[in-house]
Amino acid sequence: MAFSISAKVSAFTGAKVNATRAQKARRANVAVKAQGTDYGLGLQMSTTADKNIDPNGRAKVPLEMEKMELPLNTYKNKEPFVGTIRSVERIVGPNATGETCHIIIEHGGKMPFWEGQSYGVIPPGTKVNSKGKEVPHGVRLYSIASSRYGDSYDGLTATLCVRRATYWDPEMNAEDPAKKGICSNFLCDAKPGQEVMMTGPTGQVMLLPKDPATPVIMVATGTGIAPMRSYLRRFFLEDIPSWEFKGLAWLFMGVANSDAKLYDDEFQEMVKRFPDQFRIDYALSREDTNKNGGKMYIQDKVEEYKDQVFQLLDGGAHMYFCGLKGMMPGILSMLEGVCKEKGISYEEWLEGLKKNGQWHVEVY
Ligand code: FAD
Repeated sequence: MAFSISAKVSAFTGAKVNATRAQKARRANVAVKAQGTDYGLGLQMSTTADKNIDPNGRAKVPLEMEKMELPLNTYKNKEPFVGTIRSVERIVGPNATGETCHIIIEHGGKMPFWEGQSYGVIPPGTKVNSKGKEVPHGVRLYSIASSRYGDSYDGLTATLCVRRATYWDPEMNAEDPAKKGICSNFLCDAKPGQEVMMTGPTGQVMLLPKDPATPVIMVATGTGIAPMRSYLRRFFLEDIPSWEFKGLAWLFMGVANSDAKLYDDEFQEMVKRFPDQFRIDYALSREDTNKNGGKMYIQDKVEEYKDQVFQLLDGGAHMYFCGLKGMMPGILSMLEGVCKEKGISYEEWLEGLKKNGQWHVEVY
């Protein structure tokens, strides 16, 4: 790997400071009065690190799963797999914008996947299509938020990170339940033991680099954190001797406010255990301001570290983007601006990254 030690050190200076600041912010938020909408799970945030991280260090996993070929479309619409809900928890605080749930699904080892892949979910029920015919609901895709070993490290479950899609009626100034998202609400309302029809796994765009020494830069907004969490659990929580992560992992995460952070308790534990290898920088659009005094969006945060990011990419780092489609135009125009500043051709730079397989985008 061609990046210099000095790049590594400068890129990671301040990681501990960030961790302390984030912990303080989290503590401060516990006292905030509940203002969100209670959809049945309550308004408090469930933590996950205490349930899903082995306190003794890296967890043992069934290593035979390392030999598995990339599974693709093992289950299709016509013959879906029937998984079982193990748990559904709200993982955002009372003042988050919307509700996001951590959903563990049991597949009993029958629906294995690689980190970075997605599952399809077919919600129960029917709809009337454009021809007036009653047909089953279509499949919706969800990035898998656990590694192949699942949150319990046995390869028998998979985790989804689902944001409940709601519809805000501006005229009524209220949510219209008739227009709420079908599948996300089905998943967030599901009870343990309930069955879920699933397809897949699918996706090859977000797979990890083969070489575990490759630095990985992750840029996520909202539930775009799902694939990143799957990587980070593989990097830092699992004992995989044949694929021990030796690179740098740098996560840029954009959400509206501190209450909307996802899996921060897990990430802070990882930073504590691997301060030289893992760094996380947040862009909290409704709390922080960018250098021009405007809202701090994800591209503003990445831009703050443009030199380190470009240096890491020059040295072969892979960059992953996941979240809502709307995040990409701002990021791309920021990168174009940085290229201009540096006197390099943006088109050639981006084309080079794509050609080398360093550029991974999954937005929806
Ligand atoms: P739908 O029922 O499909 O409705 C879509 C939207 O339309 C909703 O916002 C709904 O409120 C609104 N709506 C419904 N009726 C009306 C109406 N009459 N007028 C106006 N608006 C209306 N999502 C995640 O949460 N987590 C993930 O990890 C994730 N990963 C994804 C990965 C990929 C590769 C892709 C393609 C998508 C991913 N998604 C993810 C998005 C997910 O697939 C769904 O699109 C999302 O959950 C919404 O589906 P739904 O069935 O709840 O909403």
